[in-house]
Amino acid sequence: MNKENHSRLPVMSGKRVLSASSSESINSCSDQQPAQKKMRRVDSDPKMRQTASATGAKRPLPPKRAVAKLIRHTGAATIAAGPSRGFQKPSIASVAKAAPIAAVGGSRRPAWDLKGKVTDMEGKISNYQRKVKTVAQENESLKESVAKSRQKEAQMTSDLQELHTQLSQYELEMAALSGVKEQLAIVSSEKASLAKNLCNLTDEHKVLLGLRESLEAELHSVQTQLSVQASTLSRCQTTLRETQDTVHNLEETVARQTDEIHCGEMERRELHNTIQELKGNIRVFCRVRPLQAGGQSDHIQLPAHDNKALTLAKTEESHIGRSGDTQKSYNFSFDRVFGPSIPQKDVFEEISLLVQSALDGYNVCCFAYGQTGSGKTYTMEGGEMEDMRGVIPRAVQQIFQASKKLREQGWKFTFTASFVEIYNETLRDLLYTGKANKRPEHEIRKSANNEVTVTNLTYQKVNSEDEVCNLIALANQNRSTARTNMNDHSSRSHSVFQLDIEGENSGRDVKCKSSLCLVDLAGSERVQKSQSQGDRFKEMTAINGSLTNLGIVIAALANKESYIPYRNSKLTYLLQSCLGGNSKTLMFVNISPEADSFPETLNSLRFASKVNDCVIGTASANRK
Ligand code: ADP
Ligand code: MG
Repeated sequence: MNKENHSRLPVMSGKRVLSASSSESINSCSDQQPAQKKMRRVDSDPKMRQTASATGAKRPLPPKRAVAKLIRHTGAATIAAGPSRGFQKPSIASVAKAAPIAAVGGSRRPAWDLKGKVTDMEGKISNYQRKVKTVAQENESLKESVAKSRQKEAQMTSDLQELHTQLSQYELEMAALSGVKEQLAIVSSEKASLAKNLCNLTDEHKVLLGLRESLEAELHSVQTQLSVQASTLSRCQTTLRETQDTVHNLEETVARQTDEIHCGEMERRELHNTIQELKGNIRVFCRVRPLQAGGQSDHIQLPAHDNKALTLAKTEESHIGRSGDTQKSYNFSFDRVFGPSIPQKDVFEEISLLVQSALDGYNVCCFAYGQTGSGKTYTMEGGEMEDMRGVIPRAVQQIFQASKKLREQGWKFTFTASFVEIYNETLRDLLYTGKANKRPEHEIRKSANNEVTVTNLTYQKVNSEDEVCNLIALANQNRSTARTNMNDHSSRSHSVFQLDIEGENSGRDVKCKSSLCLVDLAGSERVQKSQSQGDRFKEMTAINGSLTNLGIVIAALANKESYIPYRNSKLTYLLQSCLGGNSKTLMFVNISPEADSFPETLNSLRFASKVNDCVIGTASANRK
């Protein structure tokens, strides 16, 4: 409002001047010019224009209106100063007084000088007309400037709008940029971590570079090696071809030599058998047990340089007194005499030749004869320690080892083990594992091809030494023992371990079959000495009967008698295929070195000598 009033100020002052006097109005008209100039200045001055733009509609009134007012007032004055019909002259004077008009010349015309006055008036009118014309021109220029100002205003409004638009865009951009700022913070933290990673990766890169260098060096050396090996390989291939030729030749040689080996093996068997026959198909070995109290026996003398002789000496009291005592000596000779210090290993060496014969297809029978406590079981079975092992475990070991070697020459073997006890002329299966009250009875049967079998007996297929050892342990559990006053733990029965061997060389169509019988005989002591009675007496009678019959059978075989009384005892009947013409027999006579065993020792040695004197017909291998 104040600005509006202020902007209208020049117009208001002009109005006041015109209402006061016409001369003044002329002045006031001239006074208007500064106001118009001011207006123009506003339009032309950019500062002022800015202020005006800022105020918007509240601009100063356009000069047109002010000029219009000015003209209206002037007109009224002119009309008022017009001639009046009633009082024309005074009126004119009064009008002149009332509305004094400044004379051009400044001097007042006399009342009569109407013509002068009209001239003045006309001058004034032309003056006013000029002024009107000027004002109109000014008005026109003002209109133009208004139009320009309007244009500028519109321009500025559009500029302003543009600026607003830009501002809002900038605000939007600002908002967006604040998001960008956050992102920038995230990105900068990411950048920091990436820089860290880069640092780590750079380190790793360095390490890898070093590694690569070392690997390249390694590769280089490997490549060198490779080239060396490639040349070695080509050399080897040449050698291989040569070797293949050699192998081919060698294979032919091997085939030829295998034939030769087989022929050699068959020849060896024959020669081996010839040697055994020359040694005698029945052999007797004497073994002297060491004294249980230690030291040396007085009555058993073993010549130092003869391992086949033994002398039993006894001093007999003379009827005429001490001085007449006589020394009685009994000389014996056997295939071999083993003194008390000879170890199991050395004893077996002699038997191993017969074990080989068993593998070659000959029946072999080995007895241990002697009084209870003389060392029969020790000789046949021995102890568990390696150097205490007796004939049976060593023979089994030899057979399995030898059969393994023969397998390389195309031989296949099957082994069947059985273990029988003959007690009181009754057979018992020592490999029986059933209930004691359900033990079956056994009978000895002889087949058409002279093979002897026992009914209901366990014939156990065995494939290894261990399996046989387990069977021996089982047999020992089953074995019946009885107490006598001579030996608390002596066997009162014969035990027969039998290993049936069947061999086949299918490639050469050769088969062989044989039996290895290892017999631990019952004690040979006489009945009266053991002072046995009742059942014990019966036992002793059975034992002595079978042992006597064994002697008779061997003697009959030696004499080539037509009738051999195998059936007289279960022992000889069971062993008939292993005794005589088709077999090799070895008898150990075990003797006790104690003085009180002298009569039994003499008895045993006499029995063994009888057997030793027998010559059994030449054996032939059971070849098919
Ligand atoms: P048998 O079977 O004839 O009744 P043993 O074989 O049981 O006799 O022997 C009786 C005792 O003598 C056993 O303790 C055995 O260990 C021992 N013995 C037998 N022969 C020998 C020997 N050659 N060396 C050492 N000890 C032996
Ligand atoms: Mg015994």
